[in-house]
Amino acid sequence: MAAEDPQKSGGPNKLVIKNIGLLLSGDLSRPILEADTIVATNGRIAAIGRARDVDVGGATTMIDANGVALAPGLIDSHVHPVAGDWTPRQSQINWIDSYLHGGVTTMISAGEVHMPGRPRDVVGVKAMAIFAQRAFAAFRPNGVKIHGGAPVIETGMSEEDFRDLGEAGVKYLGEVGLGGVKDGPTARKMVAWARKYGIQSTIHTGGPSIPGSGLIDKDVVLEADTDVVGHINGGHTALPDEQIRCICEGCRRGLELVHNGNERAALYTLRTAKEMGQLDRIILGTDAPAGSGVQPLGILRMISMLSSLGEMPAEIAVCFATGNTARMRNLDCGLIEVGRAADFVFLDKAQHSAGNTLLDSIRLGDLAGVGMTIIDGIVRTQRSRNTPPATRVPVIVGH
Ligand SMILES: [Zn+2]
Repeated sequence: MAAEDPQKSGGPNKLVIKNIGLLLSGDLSRPILEADTIVATNGRIAAIGRARDVDVGGATTMIDANGVALAPGLIDSHVHPVAGDWTPRQSQINWIDSYLHGGVTTMISAGEVHMPGRPRDVVGVKAMAIFAQRAFAAFRPNGVKIHGGAPVIETGMSEEDFRDLGEAGVKYLGEVGLGGVKDGPTARKMVAWARKYGIQSTIHTGGPSIPGSGLIDKDVVLEADTDVVGHINGGHTALPDEQIRCICEGCRRGLELVHNGNERAALYTLRTAKEMGQLDRIILGTDAPAGSGVQPLGILRMISMLSSLGEMPAEIAVCFATGNTARMRNLDCGLIEVGRAADFVFLDKAQHSAGNTLLDSIRLGDLAGVGMTIIDGIVRTQRSRNTPPATRVPVIVGH
């Protein structure tokens, strides 16, 4: 841990961040805020404004942003954690801490599917989901929030099973289609049960990701009616464009674009959503760890890819990984708004980028440099060990 947890230290914790050069809100309707100062009290945003208009006295931590950009901490809508900061998929440890160095402060499990010996019987599926939910709620590598415990539906599950899971605190289903249920009618029935007990759902869209996984086409996706169309750009094998269009037009559910998917299909989905005036449906994930490995910079890479090749203003692309996801997933972070969690990433253009500004550099396809991350009002990392070096970085000027 980089710092003491204010909830445990007793006294009020007041974080003041001044000299913010560009404030990215995460809100599509107003992606840039006219403010240079943020105050957070006990891990929550308390004030946003110009320095002269905000009460900056009595700070327990003061940060000089040094003119760099501040955005909400990035959210990865699609990860496959297993236990702790370890993944057996590619035998890596500390992959979550590495993501934090890529600006990701919140992750949502799409199923703990890489668990060696993953149980497929109903009681085993439920037990593992509750275990993972509890374990990740209690263990946050360097503060990263992992919403784990995402059961993958199996044949034979009853309404009572979903009620049990909901009552036990399970909030998300793993990808429909990675278990025994691969048909539309059964999926639809279970997804509706899950929703009834407060559990959000997602689905594996497209061809098999690894041996043992299967094809889920547009008919199953539309019939299952999950809250999120998981990796609509495939994981990696994408559906044909006409099927992607059918899904976009056939429902109002979330359209998730992942790093470990087909990039052309991601751009096709983005263009379709833009034509429909529904960019609020676009959210981002990495779908890692997976066969393609672990991508600490995956969300930053998606932002730059969609902004540059998808001709999308960079400040809008940032919303796909922050406010859009927070709203769709009912998270208390992801937006620069009073009352939200004080989870931030400080970004500047990478050294020697051809872009004149951070936003310009992203539009040119370069990755932003991360200079600091904050979760719940606590500094977690300073200059990223993983991104290209930021030109300027914030500094802690006082405790
Ligand atoms: Zn998948």
